[in-house]
Amino acid sequence: MNVLVINCGSSSLKYQLINSDSEEVLAKGLCERIGIDGRLVYQKAGLDKEITEASMPTHKQAIQMVLDALVNDKTGAIKDLSGIDAVGHRVVHGGEKFAASTLLTEEVLAAIEECNDLAPLHNPANLIGIRACRELMPDVPMAGVFDTAFHQTMPEVAYMYGLPYEYYEKYKVRRYGFHGTSHSFVSKRAAELAGKPYEDLKIIVCHLGNGASVCAVDHGKSVDTSMGLTPLEGLIMGTRSGDVDPSILEFIAQKENLSLSEVMDVLNKKSGVAGMSGVSSDFRDLEAAMNEGNERAKLAQEAFAYRVVKYIGAYAAAMNGVDVIAFTAGVGENNDWIRAKILANFGYLGIHLDEEANRSARGIDQVISTPDSKVLCLAVPTNEELAICRETVALVG
Ligand code: AMP
Repeated sequence: MNVLVINCGSSSLKYQLINSDSEEVLAKGLCERIGIDGRLVYQKAGLDKEITEASMPTHKQAIQMVLDALVNDKTGAIKDLSGIDAVGHRVVHGGEKFAASTLLTEEVLAAIEECNDLAPLHNPANLIGIRACRELMPDVPMAGVFDTAFHQTMPEVAYMYGLPYEYYEKYKVRRYGFHGTSHSFVSKRAAELAGKPYEDLKIIVCHLGNGASVCAVDHGKSVDTSMGLTPLEGLIMGTRSGDVDPSILEFIAQKENLSLSEVMDVLNKKSGVAGMSGVSSDFRDLEAAMNEGNERAKLAQEAFAYRVVKYIGAYAAAMNGVDVIAFTAGVGENNDWIRAKILANFGYLGIHLDEEANRSARGIDQVISTPDSKVLCLAVPTNEELAICRETVALVG
């Protein structure tokens, strides 16, 4: 079966066409600057990227261009649109309504729309992409795969904030968590690499990318994760602050004469390692600057690693132990300095890093702890598109 995986943002759209039997990517790419001018990037497996500047005023036109590229005589990956058997859509927020992926019907779309309040930047964009695909491919079954669904197993003690209960009752203010598709995929792969049943393990997944979160997976279920009502909570990220004293918002608003939404913008877009270092949100730039003696670039990375250490410690406590720690996403998969820095704090858990294995683990599945380490430590590349493809196939059959 061929599954088209779509991840639709407000002005961009990423796609992959995956053969679910071989799990091979047949073609992939993205549309950028939708509604502004428009640029299509398309790459058939084994061929070079093609870049086309073309007007795409709406998502429907962008998706039409993707479909045209997929069936193009010369570089198309399929003969005609009957080569797309199903579409899997990434949906950011499923609130409490969705604890699993689901087939998309008008009723489901209405329920997703009801979650728009919780993710005003993401869910409306996801819905626009879904609706455009349904118009262009009305007979193709489609699935919604939610970033939040995996974490719906969190217990109340983990998801409730210390706020007046009525905010939960009236507005569903609680912790939801994100990156669920990645945490689920990586924790399952980690169990395979450990050679033990998923349901028997206590796993901590560190998804360390531009967005970053840690998840405690106890016997196959997410029991806690560092992001909350929104992706702003938790770790220090590329540009997001992560946890801060909430009083800082009012303090900065007064000192800098900013509105609340301007302060939120600072916390989401101008903070994190970018704000701390003044250099970049990209860890490769930070590493280069640190190696040239930039102290703030060093501090930003050390503070990033320290926050991860605190969450791992908290989740080992929450699960009353940990068997496996897995690192994933851009930084987790590739940055051996950060992984070593983090794991150096866990001698008390009996963790021993295999320094050579850690240094060589870049974008591959690899054990990075020594055989006598009490906790198995791993680098595991995430693959959210493949996870969405698998979820879609499981629903479409
Ligand atoms: P992501 O959001 O998962 O794409 O991760 C982006 C972050 O991963 C950026 O800070 C990059 O610097 C970092 N990253 C991605 N690839 C590499 C690599 N090959 N080596 C080191 N860091 C990387």
